Amino acid sequence: MVKIIFATGNSGKMREIREILADTGAEIESMREAGIAAEAEENGTTFEENALIKAKSAAVSAKGAVVMADDSGLEIDYLGGEPGIYSARYLGEDTSYEIKNQVILDRLAGIPKEQRSARFVCAIAAVLPDGQTLVTRGTIEGYIGEKPAGKNGFGYDPIFYVEEYGCSTAELDAEQKNAVSHRGKALRAMREKLAGFLQNSKDRS
Ligand code: IMP
Repeated sequence: MVKIIFATGNSGKMREIREILADTGAEIESMREAGIAAEAEENGTTFEENALIKAKSAAVSAKGAVVMADDSGLEIDYLGGEPGIYSARYLGEDTSYEIKNQVILDRLAGIPKEQRSARFVCAIAAVLPDGQTLVTRGTIEGYIGEKPAGKNGFGYDPIFYVEEYGCSTAELDAEQKNAVSHRGKALRAMREKLAGFLQNSKDRS
């Protein structure tokens, strides 16, 4: 059976990944379950580069498996794309999201809705057992609201609003968010790209 190891320590992401990749028939493991402790320096300049850096670093200790990693963040157009690839590190890794979100709201104070456009971006990279690499990207468009709302999700969810739902992504339940999220879209695109490889492996076994 094909094993897919996802290089993340985030249990929320792992839940989403297991749900979306369930029908591939592959065995899905987190990095910890696979006994891998790779800590790669995310020094790429794009989400795609950083996802590849993480996946390649973990793949060194995971021979024979498909190794995946993601990199994601929030791009705010009025702030020239900030915090972007620095989303987790914005204002310092240890600063609470209550503070990060409030600073963003303050920086956008008085700015009308048309200029508050933003998107979550997620890149997923996979390293196959033969060293071949695959990369996908998913985005969800939205805008920065006037105030935080909602208790679900994590990070910037309370200030990121989606037009079609008329609420923040922190007000959506996990299933609603997975259906439209950047990570959900990138993962489903990866599932499609991987399908050929997984079918070949099944045929061989
Ligand atoms: P990563 O784990 O290196 O990909 O860092 C992603 C960072 O981007 C997180 O720490 C959050 O700050 C932000 N982010 C990415 N996806 C989401 C999301 O779905 N909701 C809220 N914040 C997100």
